[in-house]
Amino acid sequence: MNTETALELLKNKGYKYTGKREKIVTMFADETRYMSAREVMEYMQIEYPGLSFDTIYRNLTLFEELGILESTELKGEKQFRFSCPGSDHHHHIICTLCGKTQKIELCPMHAVLGTPDGFTITGHKFEIYGLCDQCES
Ligand SMILES: [Zn+2]
Ligand SMILES: [Zn+2]
Ligand SMILES: [Zn+2]
Repeated sequence: MNTETALELLKNKGYKYTGKREKIVTMFADETRYMSAREVMEYMQIEYPGLSFDTIYRNLTLFEELGILESTELKGEKQFRFSCPGSDHHHHIICTLCGKTQKIELCPMHAVLGTPDGFTITGHKFEIYGLCDQCES
């Protein structure tokens, strides 16, 4: 995902393209980490003091539906990050303190032999958690 594609997607789906939405998209494009809705709200309120948590959350959910953002559960909270560019299959290692992520090419599905009885596999989720160098020192 990149800023241009994200804004194009919004426009094509008929969503109004506002300064606020652009700012959220640009912020995620600049950060390579997971952020909670609360963090996004605090960042946005510097410029838009009246912005509510609900508005932020609704926009983040919309962006996720459009594939602009991806989400996961960290520290007991839903967190969002900018979707990776391209559509190659990969997973992430995630710093549990700051939410920074790194791409890993390894896929555990390669270790799963055969198909389990009574199931057709349609997808999977796999994340590795740790501490990034900055958070560990
Ligand atoms: Zn990725
Ligand atoms: Zn970290
Ligand atoms: Zn995989």
